[in-house]
Amino acid sequence: MSIHQKEKYNQVNLSSAPRFAGIKTFMMLPHEKDVKGLDFAVMGLPFDTGSTYRIGARFGPEAVRSISVLLKPYNAYHRININDYISGVDYGDLNVLPGYIIDTYESVAEEMKLFVDNDVIPVVIGGDHSVTVPELRALRKKHGPVALVHFDAHLDTADSYFGKKYTHGTPFSRACDEGLLIPGKTIQIGMRGTYYGEHSLKESTDRGFTVITADEAFDMGLDQVIKIIHKKIGSNKVFITFDVDACDPAYAPGTGTIIPGGFTSREAFKLLRGLDGLNFIGFDVVEVLPDLDPSKITSCLASNIVFEYLTLIALMKKNLTGS
Ligand code: MN
Ligand code: MN
Repeated sequence: MSIHQKEKYNQVNLSSAPRFAGIKTFMMLPHEKDVKGLDFAVMGLPFDTGSTYRIGARFGPEAVRSISVLLKPYNAYHRININDYISGVDYGDLNVLPGYIIDTYESVAEEMKLFVDNDVIPVVIGGDHSVTVPELRALRKKHGPVALVHFDAHLDTADSYFGKKYTHGTPFSRACDEGLLIPGKTIQIGMRGTYYGEHSLKESTDRGFTVITADEAFDMGLDQVIKIIHKKIGSNKVFITFDVDACDPAYAPGTGTIIPGGFTSREAFKLLRGLDGLNFIGFDVVEVLPDLDPSKITSCLASNIVFEYLTLIALMKKNLTGS
């Protein structure tokens, strides 16, 4: 018997189960460790040892799960019910070793083989942005280097912080150094704020990354940004990473390193919805810090970002089956 039973591996019946009741899984999906035959698995990566400023993103997964019970399966923008095309579970949290980033990287990359080996698309809720490196390491084993679309207020391409190579300010330098990215196929969107100097931007562009700052995005318009993303990424296998601080602190106050002048929630949705048609192999949303998140604004936004990811997977499966 195949585990791929859409009735079993979708949300519980929302009309009979109160959303505030029960143990919280993402979107009220079943909690299941056996992922064979599934299209996607949502998982938490509760790790914030990479943070250089305010800590607490280790509590991101539980906060995002908690508010995600408000999500329903029909995406009214794309006019698609994701349950019709994909099935998946909430895997729970990946194992982490708080305080030990290199050990956690090894543990996460090893555990994530489960998804990669079974062709299950991982959808990760962080954690600070340092968590993306082991995700990409796991994906490389199957897919080789991948293209990257990176939404963030920050470039995250410092060579080191405090003399250390692994932090949430350095993941894409490491990803590049480790050969996890296809040269010339990384695009970073939403950067803004103050820099150490002109060399800061060059840390990205010298690696062949394309950078669209927040100012440039607003000047050219989001439709143009979406066009540039598609032209850049093409049909390459692509990982999408969304740091919630890409959004303005008014829309995402619950994060460690706020910078004014970012995207609204609506603009974030527009950008993500515009990615339809790319060849997705993995996603994460990172840097939700619930202790600083009044009214759960940021965790709610992150849960909806995950839902947009799931919709993109559903659209990709729909296109593949031609139905
Ligand atoms: Mn980041
Ligand atoms: Mn950031």
